[in-house]
Amino acid sequence: MRIPSSALDALRDIVGADAVLLDLPARAAHSADSLERVSALPDVVVVPADAAQVARVMQWCVAHRVPLTPRGGGTGYSGGAVPVLGGVVLSMARFTRILEIDEHNLLAVVEPNVITADLQAAVEARGLFYPPDPQSMTECAIGGNIAENAGGPRAFKYGVTRQYVLGLEVVLPTGERIETGGRTVKNVVGYDLTQLLIGSEGTLGIITRATLRLIPKPEARATLQAAFPSIAAAARAVDEFVVRRVVPATIEIIDGMCLDAVERLLDDASLQLHGIPAMLLVDVDGSQAQVAQDLGSADDACRAAGATWCRVATDADEREHLWAVRRQLSPALKMIAPYKVNNDIVVPKGRIPELFALVTDLRERYGLPIPSFGHAGDGNIHVNVMVPDPGDARQMERAEAAQADLFDGVIALGGVISGEHGIGVTKSAYIGRNLSADAIALMKRVKQAFDPHGLLNPGKIFPE
Ligand SMILES: Cc1cc2nc3c(=O)[nH]c(=O)nc-3n(C[C@H](O)[C@H](O)[C@H](O)COP(=O)(O)OP(=O)(O)OC[C@H]3O[C@@H](n4cnc5c(N)ncnc54)[C@H](O)[C@@H]3O)c2cc1C
Repeated sequence: MRIPSSALDALRDIVGADAVLLDLPARAAHSADSLERVSALPDVVVVPADAAQVARVMQWCVAHRVPLTPRGGGTGYSGGAVPVLGGVVLSMARFTRILEIDEHNLLAVVEPNVITADLQAAVEARGLFYPPDPQSMTECAIGGNIAENAGGPRAFKYGVTRQYVLGLEVVLPTGERIETGGRTVKNVVGYDLTQLLIGSEGTLGIITRATLRLIPKPEARATLQAAFPSIAAAARAVDEFVVRRVVPATIEIIDGMCLDAVERLLDDASLQLHGIPAMLLVDVDGSQAQVAQDLGSADDACRAAGATWCRVATDADEREHLWAVRRQLSPALKMIAPYKVNNDIVVPKGRIPELFALVTDLRERYGLPIPSFGHAGDGNIHVNVMVPDPGDARQMERAEAAQADLFDGVIALGGVISGEHGIGVTKSAYIGRNLSADAIALMKRVKQAFDPHGLLNPGKIFPE
């Protein structure tokens, strides 16, 4: 797309010359997200300073019919921040202020590019808690979390981002600025636009401010690590938690292929990963008494399902040591193969054993490594189809076919094809398998109502 220089001058008038980036390194730095395999150069990167500028940039896009793609931390796994049709990448990099932490009304007001872990640290310093914990939390931002409705290990007990957003300030694709929701938990005034915008993958509006719900910080936390003789035994333990009515903050399940990769990456014998076919990492939190009681129940649940050993950490450093296994999983997968087709499917948690049986079948059928791990508490499992040689077209075809079969199998189990990362560009070809044609048509009419010119983050969610 060629943007005339007079139009670029008008853009500089809105945000200042320094905030209109045309050089190749800046454009390249805004051409991809964590997915890596999809990229596209924007024609220009614009870095506005406030919501009024965002609205005027959007109006400029409407006037010149230029597409615009919002970008937060750039950690997305579905290509959401990739400007597939070029045009403007709107970097929210200057929206980094925590505007308010209201300890009496249990809420925080933030700009969208506050890093998630920074908000968590700021509220925890005041005895409060913002639970959503995407494992990219030291790099991703609240606006991106809201756009993707990010979840994380703690979703089992605390829910996902959606449960913590009270209100938004948003610039619409037509350039108007609106506020949705407010500062109260209860609010039934009109359609719930806040909830519609959450998880809309940056296709319905640009978030310029968010009001978030906080809760009191749990008094104590502990971690239990348990080794199992098989992934089926580890999956059975999840059911043992449910029947004991224990609700841990997290139940992470990790298969032997992942554990082997982490062992090779970290080379730390104290983690006791050698030869372990499956592991659960369980966090419990609450009052001291509750934590002690839940630890006992968690230990019982794991042993009832056949755990070969369990160990517990209560001290923060020891807990972090046990969690290193989980946190290093993403880089460790590179030890298996350089390229992964990353999936974030969800099944009803009672069907996790069947999901892992499906994964074993796919490994055998397609001859590819498929290390899997995830949030067993809510059935959201990362099934990574690894490609040893991405330059080999036949391997790539096998990986795509394995992914398609995975999606069909997950849907047959009553699940969905994405629980965290969104549809973006990577899964748009598959949404018709998960949603009816009528549901997709209604979603497209919603998009049309918000964005009649189709300029905000085009090429996402819906198959072209
Ligand atoms: C190692 C690793 C671990 C991860 N773990 C998890 C996990 O546990 N759970 C999970 O849910 N995800 C996880 N992710 C995926 C990713 O971190 C999340 O999707 C996150 O919410 C993206 O936030 P971001 O700020 O990086 O957004 P970006 O990647 O910049 O953008 C994501 C989407 O949000 C839109 N967007 C960004 N800012 C705005 C805004 N202000 N207004 C409107 N739209 C906007 C973009 O257009 C894009 O569509 C992980 C990623 C990595 C690399």
